[in-house]
Amino acid sequence: MFYDEEYETLPREDLKKLQFTRLQDLVQRIYNNVPFYRARFDELNVKPENLHSLADLKHLPFTEKQDLRNHFPYGLLALPRENVVRIHASSGTTGKSTVVGYSRRDVKNWARLMARSLAAAGVTPRDTVHNAYGYGLFTGGLGVHYGVEEMGATILPISGGGTKRQAMLLKDFGPTVLTCTPSYALHLYEVARESGIRFEELGIHTGIFGAEPWSDEMRLDIEAKLGLKALNIYGLSEIMGPGVGQECAVAHEGIHIWEDHFLIEIIDPISRENVPPGETGELVITTLTKEAQPLIRYRTRDLVSLRPEPCACGRTHTRISRILGRSDDMLIIRGVNVFPSQIEGLLVETEGLTPHYQLILRREKAMDTLEIQVEVDECLFSDEIKHLQRLEQKIKKNIKEFLGVTAMIKLVEPQTLARSEGKAQRIRDLRN
Ligand code: ADP
Ligand code: ZN
Repeated sequence: MFYDEEYETLPREDLKKLQFTRLQDLVQRIYNNVPFYRARFDELNVKPENLHSLADLKHLPFTEKQDLRNHFPYGLLALPRENVVRIHASSGTTGKSTVVGYSRRDVKNWARLMARSLAAAGVTPRDTVHNAYGYGLFTGGLGVHYGVEEMGATILPISGGGTKRQAMLLKDFGPTVLTCTPSYALHLYEVARESGIRFEELGIHTGIFGAEPWSDEMRLDIEAKLGLKALNIYGLSEIMGPGVGQECAVAHEGIHIWEDHFLIEIIDPISRENVPPGETGELVITTLTKEAQPLIRYRTRDLVSLRPEPCACGRTHTRISRILGRSDDMLIIRGVNVFPSQIEGLLVETEGLTPHYQLILRREKAMDTLEIQVEVDECLFSDEIKHLQRLEQKIKKNIKEFLGVTAMIKLVEPQTLARSEGKAQRIRDLRN
C-alpha cells in the first residue's frame, strides 16, 4: 500500500528532474540565509548559479557533525528563529548532541514521510501502534507519533521505560504494530514472558525497528520470538528523524530512501569520491526540502551500500543496505577492522546463545584486545562446564575464521548484561 503513490512511484527520470529543481532552490536559500554555508561556498569559489545538473553536486561543500557542534545550538538556521516551531536534538551517542530546528512545513513533511514509511511497512489506518521510542528531544517518539496520526492509524504514545507496565499495556490495548529499537523489542519480549504474556499471541503483526544497528540474524531471531514481521526504519535527527528511509514489507530487503526529499551519495570516507553501487561507503545526505535547518552533503558516518536495482513493491526510490554500523564504532583489533553488527550476526546464529552481548575493549602492551561477553540460554547454563568451554572455543574459532579477529569469549549467565530502554550500548571501552 502506498501513502503518496504519485511521488513514491515517480519514474526515475522525473524524480531526478524534481531533485534538481529542489536542489537549485535549496542552494539559493542556503547561500542567502546561512552565513556558514555562504562562507564555505565562497571559499570553494562556487555560486548557486554554477549548478547546472545533479552532477554538479560534487562541487558543493560537505557538512560534518562537527560543523553542527560548532554552531550549537541555532547557528545553522536558514529561517529567522520565530519561524521555528520545534527543536529536537540527537541522542548524543558519539559526543555532544546536535540540535535541529523545524519550520511548520518541516514538521508537516516529516509527518507525511513517516506516514509513507509506515505504509511501506504495511501499516494501515486500521492499525494501532504501540510506540515505545522515547518521547522528548530525541526524534524517535514524536517522529513516529505524528506519522501514525497523519496516516489515520491509532497511536499509543507509550515512550521508553517502565517495561513491566508496557508489557501489561500490550495485553490491554491490543496494538497491532510495535515501534522501538530492536534491542528494546527483545527486552520487552523477555519482560512480557516473565509476566506470563505470550508475545506471539498478542496480535502484533509488524515491528518497525531502528535507531541502532542490527544484523539480519538479529532480525530473524526477533521475528521467530515475537511472531511478527520485523522491518528496518532509518533516520537521523540532523536530517529529520525517523522516516528518512524505510524497508518495504513487500521485498523486506533494503531501505528505500525517500529521494524526493533526500539526495543521497555513498562515498569513500577517505577519498570522498563516490563508491560504485554495491560497495560499502559512508552515506551522505542533502536535505532537498527542509526549510529551517537544511544541510548540504551531510556526512552521516553511517556505512551502507547502494542497491540500485528496481524493487518488487513498485516504489522507484532507491534502496540502501542494512546499516553496517557507524564509522565511529569500527573496532580495530590487531589491525583487523570489524563492526559490532558483524560479531552480532555470528553470535545470534550460534545455538545456545542469546542475542544479549557486550564488547569490551582493553589495551594490553599497546595492543587492543577484545572480550566478548554473551549470555547463554537458560537451558544451557545448567550444563556441565566442559560443554560451556566447548561452546566458547567454537565461538572463538568462528570469529577468527569469519572475521579474522581474535577475541576472548566469556559466556555469562542469562539476564546478567544490562538491558537498554533505547539505543543499546554494545561497546565498553576500557582503553583509557
Ligand atoms: P545519535 O547519532 O546521537 O545516536 P540520533 O538519535 O539522531 O543521534 O540517531 C541517528 C543515528 O542512529 C543514525 O545516524 C544511525 O547511526 C543510527 N540509526 C538510525 N536508524 C538505524 C537503523 N535502522 N540501523 C542502524 N542504525 C540506525
Ligand atoms: Zn520496495
